Amino acid sequence: MNKILLTLLLIPQIALSSALPQQLAAPGGIVNIQLGSVETPAPVVTFQDKRVLIVENDHKWYAIVGIPLKIKAGQHSIQVTSGATSTQLDFAIVDKDYPAQYITIKNKRMVNPNPDDLKRITSERPAINKALNTWTEQPVGDLLFSIPVEGRLSSPFGLKRFFNNQPKNPHSGLDIAAPKGTTISAPAPGLVINTGGYYYNGNTVFLDHGQGLVTGYFHMSKITVKAGQIVEQGTKLGEVGETGRVTGPHLHWNVYLNKTKVDPALFVPELSATKTEAEAAQ
Ligand code: ZN
Repeated sequence: MNKILLTLLLIPQIALSSALPQQLAAPGGIVNIQLGSVETPAPVVTFQDKRVLIVENDHKWYAIVGIPLKIKAGQHSIQVTSGATSTQLDFAIVDKDYPAQYITIKNKRMVNPNPDDLKRITSERPAINKALNTWTEQPVGDLLFSIPVEGRLSSPFGLKRFFNNQPKNPHSGLDIAAPKGTTISAPAPGLVINTGGYYYNGNTVFLDHGQGLVTGYFHMSKITVKAGQIVEQGTKLGEVGETGRVTGPHLHWNVYLNKTKVDPALFVPELSATKTEAEAAQ
């Protein structure tokens, strides 16, 4: 009997074998780091003091590390703890220059909120942060998502943004433009952890997929799920709209790993290979 087959026979079939997202070792990307064999318990991994998603792939544990947009190119490391042993694993990050995007917003309060708006924005923050900081220990399945809405990719992730010529935070998600009322569906199984109507995000749904993998759906016209509801891949979450800070009807889709916004396209095989329409998106 060959060695590989013998190894397969010895492994208890408890862990899931999960497909990994596309790797991009750059700001806003994902680094998949191979750890030990699944014959030993999954280690606890942190990156910049935040817990990191661990999945099983091909009988090895993998750390799926979300890389912040603000990271500097160079050597970085994760901390891997198994029982009483803690080790550091290094990985390299290269630069990525995301294009700039200039957007004109007609509603000036969406660019320069007045004091009442600022009060509202501040009051909404705890609920949004609570959703983003969700950590559940459950095993996570395939890290391959379906597209949540059929439409035109209007703005890719990471664009340096200027609203009415003022520099703002970079684009933290992926925009898919579609007519108001188009169905938005869950790209992967998960739990609805928050729904709400927020100042910038408009009508919003957050899903928890386990171990810090959280997704957000913004600007919806209609929400058709409730917090606490379990969804399957393809379950309708709501409909495309233009609530919050928008220039037209679209879905803004966020994906978070270790409390870090990463490029959603890396989870969607047909998108990670597709050219988007960055410059045409104004
Ligand atoms: Zn967007």
